[in-house]
Amino acid sequence: MKKKLGIIFVALLPIVFSLCACSRICKHKLVKVNYTAETCTEDGNIEYWHCSLCDKNFADADAAEEISSTVILAAHAYGDYEYDFENKRYFRSCSRCDDIVKTDAGNEQFPLLARDETELTSVIQSAKAKSHIKLANDITVTAGEYEVVLRLPDGGTLDLGGHTVTVKNNGGFLVEGTDVTLQNGKVITDFETPNIGYAVFLGDAVDDNRITVRNLDTKGGFNVFNCEAAFYDCNVDATNRLYYALWADTHSTITVNSGVYRGGEIACVHSTASREADNSGYVILNGGTFYGKIYATFCTTINGGNFDDSIVLTPYLYDGETEKTEAKLIVSKDYASKLNITVTATDYEMFDGKDANGNRVYETRKKQTLTNNR
Ligand SMILES: [Zn+2]
Ligand SMILES: [Zn+2]
Repeated sequence: MKKKLGIIFVALLPIVFSLCACSRICKHKLVKVNYTAETCTEDGNIEYWHCSLCDKNFADADAAEEISSTVILAAHAYGDYEYDFENKRYFRSCSRCDDIVKTDAGNEQFPLLARDETELTSVIQSAKAKSHIKLANDITVTAGEYEVVLRLPDGGTLDLGGHTVTVKNNGGFLVEGTDVTLQNGKVITDFETPNIGYAVFLGDAVDDNRITVRNLDTKGGFNVFNCEAAFYDCNVDATNRLYYALWADTHSTITVNSGVYRGGEIACVHSTASREADNSGYVILNGGTFYGKIYATFCTTINGGNFDDSIVLTPYLYDGETEKTEAKLIVSKDYASKLNITVTATDYEMFDGKDANGNRVYETRKKQTLTNNR
């Protein structure tokens, strides 16, 4: 019986041995491999220890931490990108060899840059559609009103890059373009008669102007002409200026979604009314904080916003017209419940054409002032 058990034990030995082999621990024979720096063309390696028995690599002499890769891939040692103003592209060079990488400019990551008014004009004129153009520093715009029109490429962006545009010489910072964006910076006026001008003119004679204005600070208001303009997060200050923070001039639509708007001496926001729809300037207020009067005509829609002053309902201002249509302010149903408005009617003289002798005839009409009592 004893012998039989011995045979069974011997027969099981290979199985027992193979089970043990699975978990056998290597008594590592380690060789240190020194760190070798990579070059521009050849791989290097980190410092590590190699076991010639199990062929594994370790981060330490005690083989406590196994590592899978020891290779440092070959790579150029490039510095930061710099801008080549002359060739309008970015480049970065390797500090180890002469390798230079060039990258075309024009997108958000690599915008076309401009350092002054002349350069800005030239960059804009040669830029492709959807180009991203950015100021490299503060600039001064000296040309007279309407002399320099910055017509951005279709779908393009003019990013002030946090810089300031100073408008001199009664000039305007006149931007136009189709589906373009003007953003991130400051526009201030430095006129001989600083109370007259607007800081920014949006739109000019060419049609299809659609401009989004974001995160812009201005000293002086916006004059929007022949243009659809949408405002987000702007801080427009027309204090001590004549006119308005936002003026919807002929054939325009101003939509305000957010931001703070401080009016000039006449009002904060004004829409143009005309008998011909095409000549009206429409205002749609969806949000924002407004200091000063809102001169509203039937071209005004209020869906939201905070107002510290009256909303003045003005009929046609278009001198020489005899149109009788009453002015009508549209306040959306949701928003109307939040407003607490009183209406005051005052007389005013409206030009009503000329009589047989060529003298101007006026008609006394009622102007209604809506006061927001909140
Ligand atoms: Zn080993
Ligand atoms: Zn290199």
